[in-house]
Amino acid sequence: MDVDDVETVAVLGAGNMGHGIAEVAALAGYEVNMRDINEEFVRKGYDQIEWSLGKLAEKDQISESDADAALERVSPVVPVEDAVADADLVIEAVPEKMDVKKDVYAEVEEHAPDRAVFASNTSSLSITELSEVTDREERFCGMHFFNPPVRMQLVEVIAGAHTAEETLDLVESVAERMGKTPVRVRKDSPGFIVNRVLVPLMNEAAWLVHEGEATVEGIDSTTKYGMGLPMGSFELADQVGIDVGVHVLEYMHDVLGDAYEPCPLLTEKVENETLGKKTGEGFYDYENGGAEVPSDAVSESVQRTLLAVMANEVAGLIGDDVADADDIDQAVKLGAGFPDGPARMADDEGLDALLSTLDERHDETGAERYEAVPYLRDLVEEGRGFRDAGGDGDDDALDFETIRVEREGRVGHVVLDRPHRMNTISGELLDELGTAIDELDADEEVRAVLVTGEGERAFSAGADVQSLAAGGGDPLEVVELSRKGQATFGKFEACDVPVVAGVDGYCLGGGMEFATCADLRVASERSEFAQPEHNIGIMPGWGGTQRLRHIVGEGRAKEIIFTAERYDAETMERYGFVNEVVPNEDLEERAMELAADLAAGPPVAQRYTKRAMLAGRDDTDAGLEIEAQAFGQLMSTDDVMEGVMAFMSDEEPEFEGK
Ligand code: NAD
Repeated sequence: MDVDDVETVAVLGAGNMGHGIAEVAALAGYEVNMRDINEEFVRKGYDQIEWSLGKLAEKDQISESDADAALERVSPVVPVEDAVADADLVIEAVPEKMDVKKDVYAEVEEHAPDRAVFASNTSSLSITELSEVTDREERFCGMHFFNPPVRMQLVEVIAGAHTAEETLDLVESVAERMGKTPVRVRKDSPGFIVNRVLVPLMNEAAWLVHEGEATVEGIDSTTKYGMGLPMGSFELADQVGIDVGVHVLEYMHDVLGDAYEPCPLLTEKVENETLGKKTGEGFYDYENGGAEVPSDAVSESVQRTLLAVMANEVAGLIGDDVADADDIDQAVKLGAGFPDGPARMADDEGLDALLSTLDERHDETGAERYEAVPYLRDLVEEGRGFRDAGGDGDDDALDFETIRVEREGRVGHVVLDRPHRMNTISGELLDELGTAIDELDADEEVRAVLVTGEGERAFSAGADVQSLAAGGGDPLEVVELSRKGQATFGKFEACDVPVVAGVDGYCLGGGMEFATCADLRVASERSEFAQPEHNIGIMPGWGGTQRLRHIVGEGRAKEIIFTAERYDAETMERYGFVNEVVPNEDLEERAMELAADLAAGPPVAQRYTKRAMLAGRDDTDAGLEIEAQAFGQLMSTDDVMEGVMAFMSDEEPEFEGK
């Protein structure tokens, strides 16, 4: 079956995940039959979808009519045969119990058409074992969404032992149609990718506390402020539910061995039913303030141990050919919000140092969880890191972590690639942008640059406050950071080739200051713009007080900055900030078309025009002088001959920049 043949999706289970998956499928245009065991449950799921679609429309992420149309595509049903009889794809999200799921598959197999592909949203159970209940083992795979499906970008697509390649391709294409980023898990391995990294990390944190080597606060301070993860380990355990983590650990323990023995600190919490946020108490007391993670209790030795255990899991995944380093990094960034992927973090720390930590701790404690996997040892012996060991061979993807640089003809396309964090701008992203524009500007083949943001939500929602706050807010450091942002964005403004910004979604704060440095801006109808800094008592710090006024005039620039309000794309077009507003679905194509048009223009004339305009901003005489000199220079270029000849013979000129 081809992805275009998929029209009807059956979602089994209308609970937490089921209703979210049904909503995402309906938004993607599929007819959705959502099934639960009784009217009440299925109704509840339907009401939740209605509420969530309403919220999306309220926040202008979708139109009212799209919300209504999506809801209309969802049919709540109770009889299994009604749900699956005409389904092309069945996504199962019933409770995480092997026997319950097996019963469901046995029943569904009877009523589903032969062509239908079955996908389980299980977080931990064996895809192979589930598939064997059916007569379509090769048309069966895992499709693991993250909670909540509407917001989380990642879908792990898991191969069971019998799954056919076409099934994985199909389900990945469907995930893409749903606007998600699928990451393939090549083997049915416990915890797949994200949980395989997160859950042993949580277990290790618990063991360190259990054995008196650290405190809950010390660990959380280290994970949050030392390693820069979005939450402390215990904070995360409380958030997800300690029972959920223990359940996954028990399964890993069964299949992968004693290295995964759940720490008593965790199992005791499960026995006492203090499961985290959902019960009001876990490692923190949520009825009395909840998690308060100190920023000053970071321990280097705890950090080294946690990184070592994490590196060991990454090595296990790569060594067993479950996934490569790039896929692991992408999955964990999208699924767990890590600012950097675990393979990269381990490489940065040094695999040799991490292996020594594992060996030392293994010698001291004899604990199996510190036993280094052979693949890690091999890499250290060869002096290689995870990411040198080969991914998909895509050099660009390896070169940069936070952006992608692609070449399409003569256009260098820079994509801000942190969709899980709304393409916000971190220090690393600034560094990478600087390198990228230097490389593109130096490349004679590149005649125009296009800048866009990955995903449909944001061009860029501004500075990544979390990663930038890691410096502790020291005023002197912030001055340098401001200068760095000004200079990096300034490179786009000053580079020799025309720069187009294609804005889709939020373009806020630092993101707007970046877009300001483009020569032309095209925006989708749904885009929103703001310099919201005054709302929190700060001010634009990456060029906003200077550059914006040259585009919209000082009066409008002051209005935008002082009101700190959101502006829609149409208003920004009226203000002269946006050159063209296009329907949402046309944005990417139109922005690329415009960049390609500019790339066909006369390079020398474009370069001098940019220079003269920039130099003349605050000093008209200087600008006029540059204009006169440049105008003279142009006369001796081949491009002028070419342009004049083409004009006279009514043909398209072929400029060569000479
Ligand atoms: P849930 O308890 O909220 O929902 C499960 C629903 O399935 C319930 O409404 C239940 O009535 C229904 N159900 C039971 N038997 C059924 C049957 N025979 N046919 C149809 N529906 C049936 O659970 P959940 O959190 O939505 O989890 C569902 C699955 O998704 C599990 O496999 C879980 O591991 C996985 N998952 C959960 C999360 C999460 O964060 N909650 C994340 C990823 C994956």
